[in-house]
Amino acid sequence: MKISLWNSRTGRKETFTPLQPERVRMYVCGPTVYDRAHIGNARPVVVFDLLFSLLRHQYGQQQVVYVRNITDIDDKINARALELNNSLGASLLDTIRSITDETIDWFHEDMAALGVLPPTHEPRATDYVREMVDMIGELLARRHAYVREGHVLFDTRSYPEYGSLARRSPRDMRAGARVEVAPYKTSELDFVLWKPSDDTLPGWESPWGRGRPGWHIECSAMSSRLLGTSFDIHGGGSDLLFPHHENEAAQSACAHPEAEFARLWMHNGMIRVNGQKMSKSLENFLTVRQLLEQGIAGETIRLVLLGTHYRQQLDWTDRRVEEARSILGEWRHITAGIDESDRNCHREVLEQLADDLNTPGAISVLHRLAADGSAAELKASAVFMGLLGDDLSDQLRKSVMEVMRLRDQARNQRNFDLSDRIRNQLGDVGIIVRDSKAGSRYHFQPVGARDAQMIAIDTTLGELTRMAKVGMQH
Ligand SMILES: [Zn+2]
Repeated sequence: MKISLWNSRTGRKETFTPLQPERVRMYVCGPTVYDRAHIGNARPVVVFDLLFSLLRHQYGQQQVVYVRNITDIDDKINARALELNNSLGASLLDTIRSITDETIDWFHEDMAALGVLPPTHEPRATDYVREMVDMIGELLARRHAYVREGHVLFDTRSYPEYGSLARRSPRDMRAGARVEVAPYKTSELDFVLWKPSDDTLPGWESPWGRGRPGWHIECSAMSSRLLGTSFDIHGGGSDLLFPHHENEAAQSACAHPEAEFARLWMHNGMIRVNGQKMSKSLENFLTVRQLLEQGIAGETIRLVLLGTHYRQQLDWTDRRVEEARSILGEWRHITAGIDESDRNCHREVLEQLADDLNTPGAISVLHRLAADGSAAELKASAVFMGLLGDDLSDQLRKSVMEVMRLRDQARNQRNFDLSDRIRNQLGDVGIIVRDSKAGSRYHFQPVGARDAQMIAIDTTLGELTRMAKVGMQH
């Protein structure tokens, strides 16, 4: 099957050909962790989760490496910690750690509720500061950066292609960037690679004094460390195209001139709520948690997010939520008692997805399968798209996803004893794991009294997590 994807860099739909078919590599910018994820944060996570499934189906489960980072060092996090500290009196660094840890936990729980699979790697920026410092050193050595007043800045004038990814002229960039005016910048488009930290702020030793990295360098350093200096797909929201992705591309090209960095750039459109931009002042910021607490199921949110093509702007309305809810109710009714495990996703659904992730097209095929009464195919195809999954609690689902991720790792390390034991023990409590070319999926099978089964699942997951972590060290 041919996969075509729209490349923002060229402004064309292109046939996707991985640099190495046995190792397809994708990087997507992840959350900055200081607050609950809103639906605008959830959209790229869901979109690229579906692309991850499609790529795994096409190239094989072990062959796709998906990195989605966590930005856990950022001035917004520091500001939030300062706000909290005024009332708590704890050390700022401790508060930052507890904010980021808690927010990462929330993020995992909320995304699991939306049926999102964990990525292959989820690096935290603070674990890669060494790589960032090295890369900044490389940029200085190659004269693409300069040091001024304790800051290291990228010299945009040293790179004539600056602006080519976003396809903007220097004038457009100045108008669009809302560039902060700082006396230490040679050009107003130059951006910070490293900035000084005083003793109260998180900081690392560097050749330029104690400080912390700028945001853009994080993604360049983590992607090159985990995926190499050339990889296949770089994704994120269209709001990141400029300046974030432009800056990532510029830094990476200048630090590794022999490499291509990302070959294909994908950007999802923004979300509006009832026709309006989401904003704090309009009080229309919808977090995933709020929606779940209003009783809107995770899969309903997912279906609304997939109901509009990813490149289009999506308008979130109550009517769309109601529609999605009733569609899923109908599909659940049709597929009740159906075991999809011997079926694969319907060919036409895959073809729609392979056409630049045409999710509205794929959903119309699901409607047709429903109308034709093809229950097993409907179920298998919906499950492929992350719909009609289990009805576990968000907490339990998150733990199941984590155990599934550990099992994937065990399989990657060819530790089949461990992966089989995990599969068997999950099966004993009604979590049926099935491995296929598209990856491992599970489905939930009710066994006996629900409460007793939930307790058994919870206990088993705890044991398996411990067992897997120990088993993997050997
Ligand atoms: Zn990024």
